[in-house]
Amino acid sequence: MTTTQNNMRVLKFGGTSVANADNIKKVINILEQYSQDKTVVVISALGGVTDLLIKTGTLAANKDEAYKEVLSELEKRHLDTVKALLPVTQQSSCLSKVKQQFNELDEICEGVYRLNELSPRTRDRIISFGELLSSQIVADYYAATNQPCEWLDVRKLIRTNNNFGFAAVDFDVTNQLIADKVNASTTKLFAAPGFVAANADGHTTTLGRGGSDYTAAIFAGALQAEALEIWTDVNGMMTADPRWVPNAKNIAEISYQEAMELSHFGAKVIYPPTIQPVMARQIPVWVKNTFAPQEYGTLIRNTPSVEGEFIRGISSMNNIALLSLEGSGMIGIPGFSKRLFEALAKEEINVILITQSSSEHAICVAINLADVEKAVKAVDLAFEPEIKAGKVDALKVERNLSIIALVGDQMKSHPGISGKMFGVLGRNGINVRAIAQGSSERNISAVISFNDAKKAVTVLHEAFFEFEYKNLNVAITGVGNVGGKLLDQLAQQQAYLQQHLKLKVKVVALANSRKMLLKEEGIALDNWKQELDNSADMQLDEFVAGVVARNLPNTVFVDVTANADVAQIYGKLLSKSISVVACNKIACSSPYNYYQQLKSLAAAYNALFLFETNVGAGLPVIGTLNDLLRSGDRINRMQAVLSGTLNFVFNNYDGTRPFAEVVRQAQAEGYTEPDPRLDLGGTDVMRKIMILAREAGEQLEMDDISNTQFLPASCFDGSVEDFYQEMGKQEAHFQKLYKEAADKGCKLKFVATFENGKASVGLQHIPPASDFYHLYGKDNIVLFYTQRYPEQPLVVKGAGAGADVTASGVFADIIRTARV
Ligand code: ADP
Ligand code: ASP
Ligand code: MG
Repeated sequence: MTTTQNNMRVLKFGGTSVANADNIKKVINILEQYSQDKTVVVISALGGVTDLLIKTGTLAANKDEAYKEVLSELEKRHLDTVKALLPVTQQSSCLSKVKQQFNELDEICEGVYRLNELSPRTRDRIISFGELLSSQIVADYYAATNQPCEWLDVRKLIRTNNNFGFAAVDFDVTNQLIADKVNASTTKLFAAPGFVAANADGHTTTLGRGGSDYTAAIFAGALQAEALEIWTDVNGMMTADPRWVPNAKNIAEISYQEAMELSHFGAKVIYPPTIQPVMARQIPVWVKNTFAPQEYGTLIRNTPSVEGEFIRGISSMNNIALLSLEGSGMIGIPGFSKRLFEALAKEEINVILITQSSSEHAICVAINLADVEKAVKAVDLAFEPEIKAGKVDALKVERNLSIIALVGDQMKSHPGISGKMFGVLGRNGINVRAIAQGSSERNISAVISFNDAKKAVTVLHEAFFEFEYKNLNVAITGVGNVGGKLLDQLAQQQAYLQQHLKLKVKVVALANSRKMLLKEEGIALDNWKQELDNSADMQLDEFVAGVVARNLPNTVFVDVTANADVAQIYGKLLSKSISVVACNKIACSSPYNYYQQLKSLAAAYNALFLFETNVGAGLPVIGTLNDLLRSGDRINRMQAVLSGTLNFVFNNYDGTRPFAEVVRQAQAEGYTEPDPRLDLGGTDVMRKIMILAREAGEQLEMDDISNTQFLPASCFDGSVEDFYQEMGKQEAHFQKLYKEAADKGCKLKFVATFENGKASVGLQHIPPASDFYHLYGKDNIVLFYTQRYPEQPLVVKGAGAGADVTASGVFADIIRTARV
């Protein structure tokens, strides 16, 4: 070989970097800094041109004359670019080169149109024009404004096989041709088209989509360049695809292997084969931003100096299919996998990931979706006898999958990474179809549904890279008293949560009974009323479907309504791993089966179902009960006063004012249900003690609870107004209730009790020594008598109603779902 070690550099500028005249000027500015040393500049087609050339060829092959329009637009774009770049006096030679290329392209396309056929060879010929044109324009512009620039015809320098569209390079021949050509020339700057090459017969081939990076690496390797620089439209390689993860961080340094793994699994910023020729010669690679050259970029080399990163990046690859070949008749029979891979290899199907179960009779491979039909045919044919004999099942195919990969050289020295990875995926309801870990332990990859891919990358990125904060996406139904207060509190606490809990709370959906609003980027909490008013009409199904379809990570659905329909949709949400926070009591006080079903769904899908405010508003009642049980305590008895309404009524009734009037006051002050009989008849208290009993493990229904009514039966007839009339008539009854208690020095309280599996509610005489005696206003109290608190109970006491405290209870549940 005639190559020499030198300070030559190879630079590659991608499609966006040369998309138009303004961008090309930026490229030339960058090149000016390289004018001292020999430099090869590899150029991509102007952004989007390759796609349009493919379109032209396909249209022509389909006998669609529209191909001509696409071609003439392409021609105009290139001519305009030349005119915008070169001084008028120097345009003509470049313009005529461009026109000549388009004449040639016209002829080829016309041939395709006539023949009604597009062979891979002709397709390569057509798409090569993108790079041929762009590189000539850059070369001429550089020569016109700076110093001489030699255009390299890569078809004479890069030799490949005949695999059109994805040709393999013959490095022995190529390295020699490149070195001879460049070393022999005295020119400093060379411009070369990327992506394009030729076979031994001189027919144009291409190196695969995104292949200009590879062209540059081939040059760098052949010339033993000092460095390869990939100039693109981002600041370097990032910890994840920035289009999916806006918080993706720049990677300052990365090893060749890591870069290779990330690009193999979808990090488009570098075309995967690029690393190989430079790694072989230990040539460092820089990834730099044409639009921000001052940024550091990414340095790819053998041993990155930036230590301490266990995970370097996350990438994902879409359009994947999973093939599973299974057969109990194959246990221990050698050659099973060999035959599978041979069948795939014969069809030139690239196997991206492989897993084999330990029983050795099931093997799973991930391939590109585009290869599925070919693969099924090939494998079914290869195993035909076994399939007929029932020893092997027909090949199973799953489509629309993605692979996500976690990459990092240091992973192997760090236990717990896959645990964390699958924990995060599981918590977010992402089902993993197959897993592979390379033997180098540089990569853990998982096959998941395409629908989950963005969410998976986002949550993994959050877990491994975003130490600043975690996003919590909140959907709220009900913006009345409590809902409104909740939004105020969320707005007020946003900064605090971000600073102290590293939580960024975003309200992404909001609805009341009339309107609904869904906004993935988050609803501004200082203007939600107006935005909601101007939004679409509420359709509960649509609202829920919208929340589910967005498939956002860490989502919590908050029900601040008292609506039975809303309570019916929790199951749908939980089974999508969306946590549910219910202020609405209906679900938990429905028949036990529904309550239990929701609990099981939450457990199965790793979501939380929280409803602290169902009992005692903002008081930590359910949370305390759960903590006691989880830490191994046993409940002996629970005794509670759980109705703010009844408390208010009995605290204010002393026989001097009619009972009915006191109830009216309670209603006027907003302490009662619209029909106060729900409170006064004890139903609301029954629901609450039932929820507590259920949480304590008892399978209790409303019918199982005994309720000693203090309202005469006649009060339950008729309308609410009839009820008030009847209470008026029954004043003597209420006076008697009061007097009996007062005579004993007792107060009246409506008490709920749960003991020995039985729950009861009813009015009781409370003596001054009781914990219940000093209970004022709308206070609630719960006494937990347990094994650890046998005589002196654990007491939870405080305001048990009110929008502010209820909202804060809901708020606390929301934060709990973030599991920070
Ligand atoms: P060029 O035209 O310069 O070759 P590409 O579009 O091929 O550019 O590659 C750059 C793009 O790759 C970026 O704009 C970015 O959207 C995407 N990309 C995907 N994954 C990553 C990643 N991990 N780091 C940086 N960019 C990435
Ligand atoms: N222009 C080619 C493509 O779009 C090659 C490249 O840009 O790297 O695939
Ligand atoms: Mg590219």
